[in-house]
Amino acid sequence: MATSANCGIVYLVGAGPGHPGLMTLRGLECLQQAELVIHDKLVSPRLLDYAPASATRICVTDLAECHVERHRPVQKAMINAARQGKTVVRLKGGDPLLFGRGGEEAQALAEAGVPFEIVPGVTAALGAGACAAIPLTHRAHASAVAFITGHEKPDKPESAIDWEALARFQGTLVIYMGISRLGQIVEALIRHGKPADTPAAVVHCATTGEQSTVEAPLRELPDAVLKAGLAAPAMIIIGSVVELRRELSWFERRPLFGKRVLVTRPRHQARDLVHRLEGLGASAYVLPAVEIHEPSDWSAVDAAIGRLASFHWLVFTSANGVHAFIGRLKKLGNDLRALGTLRLAAIGPKTAEALRHYHLKPDLVPERYQSEDLAGLLAATIVPGQHVLLARADRGRELLRDELSRLAHVEQIAVYCQADAIDVTSPVLANLRRGEIDFVTLTSSNIARAFVAALDDVARLRLHAGDTRLVTISSVTSEEVRKLGVPVAAEASEATAEGIVDALVHLASARP
Ligand code: SAH
Repeated sequence: MATSANCGIVYLVGAGPGHPGLMTLRGLECLQQAELVIHDKLVSPRLLDYAPASATRICVTDLAECHVERHRPVQKAMINAARQGKTVVRLKGGDPLLFGRGGEEAQALAEAGVPFEIVPGVTAALGAGACAAIPLTHRAHASAVAFITGHEKPDKPESAIDWEALARFQGTLVIYMGISRLGQIVEALIRHGKPADTPAAVVHCATTGEQSTVEAPLRELPDAVLKAGLAAPAMIIIGSVVELRRELSWFERRPLFGKRVLVTRPRHQARDLVHRLEGLGASAYVLPAVEIHEPSDWSAVDAAIGRLASFHWLVFTSANGVHAFIGRLKKLGNDLRALGTLRLAAIGPKTAEALRHYHLKPDLVPERYQSEDLAGLLAATIVPGQHVLLARADRGRELLRDELSRLAHVEQIAVYCQADAIDVTSPVLANLRRGEIDFVTLTSSNIARAFVAALDDVARLRLHAGDTRLVTISSVTSEEVRKLGVPVAAEASEATAEGIVDALVHLASARP
């Protein structure tokens, strides 16, 4: 069929083996233009966030229940959408043309006359090689590598793969989709002459925080895998290159490797912490305990902004406060000159960074990032009788106002509101109940209160049993948590994301 002028396009994109960072830049470009994304089940949900919010996202399992027959509805959906002029991304695990019916999908598009582009991806074999630290080729070990499927088409005869030739093959064998037939595969290879003591490994969920690797001589591999309870998706790697793991292992040696950490900050602030945790090997989960929103009534803020010239100090206790205050200032038709000669105080480095974002230099940042320290430093700096404006959330500690009121005129305004936000239907809470979350980070007292309030008895028991351990950002937050009757496992020595990550690493290394 000829291509019609207003036909869309289908991008067959390789999503890589699991870690969202392992998709190509071209793949990302395609995804950012997508109107429809049809993705494999194994594709990281985090990758789907790169498609426009308005794009429709469909998982292939929603198009057809049955694995064998799934390709037809997928092909139909792609072709129909492209014919309606849509930009379609077919996002496939690993590389689209390796063991994923990508070839068949491209054939269907070609036959239908739908324009398409194929964007290669990092195939699972390469992901497993890199992250399990097994070079698939190495001058001293293997000069060739074979990619094999261990899952035959049901209508193919058993002998479609020449196991005898593979047993003789002098390179590395990498077998996809073979975990459920591992016993038969190993038996076939040994029967055809592959030495039973050939080094071998199975890598489950390569490149992700869930990666798990079992290594054993070929003969013992099926038992070792059974004992470790490894399931699909997994890659079987056979060859002397597996020995190099001992020397090269890096991914699995990172300090938080295999740890599941729950981040409870508002979603827009979670990213920094999530990246730091993942960089150290953790699997990060996000369940915002609070979210922030605009005040429903701006009158007090607007009145204070109208009288800015009468204040000597403007004090911020969070980056959110800075963004909200400056945002309102602009909305009222002002620019930064409205701040005139006001002196600026920030509670900590993130708040100071938010000020610098607007080219404002804080005049005062305490060494430790707590209200007590900010109050102490301000008290020592301000001239008695001066006017101080505190721009903050609608809830929080009153310490700063109370302390400063002793020597200055203090006006406190709520420039943003905070509300409890835990989604009680989130699967993360079920993970926690099952003891599958190792650590929870709590970055403020309000977050701690909202988080603990959302726990049922089973989840609380996990905390008391030490299956899930709480790490807080400061002694103030720890105190709040203990008041709620829950134990604290560690506390940041500096009240920042970095501080909390350091405390977590320390805790994780103290008890393996
Ligand atoms: N097109 C994909 C392969 C699809 S077949 C690619 O190029 O990678 C699916 C098989 O790939 C799984 O059964 C498993 O053997 C392997 N696989 C996919 N992701 C994996 C991962 N993260 N870790 C280990 N094996 C994986």
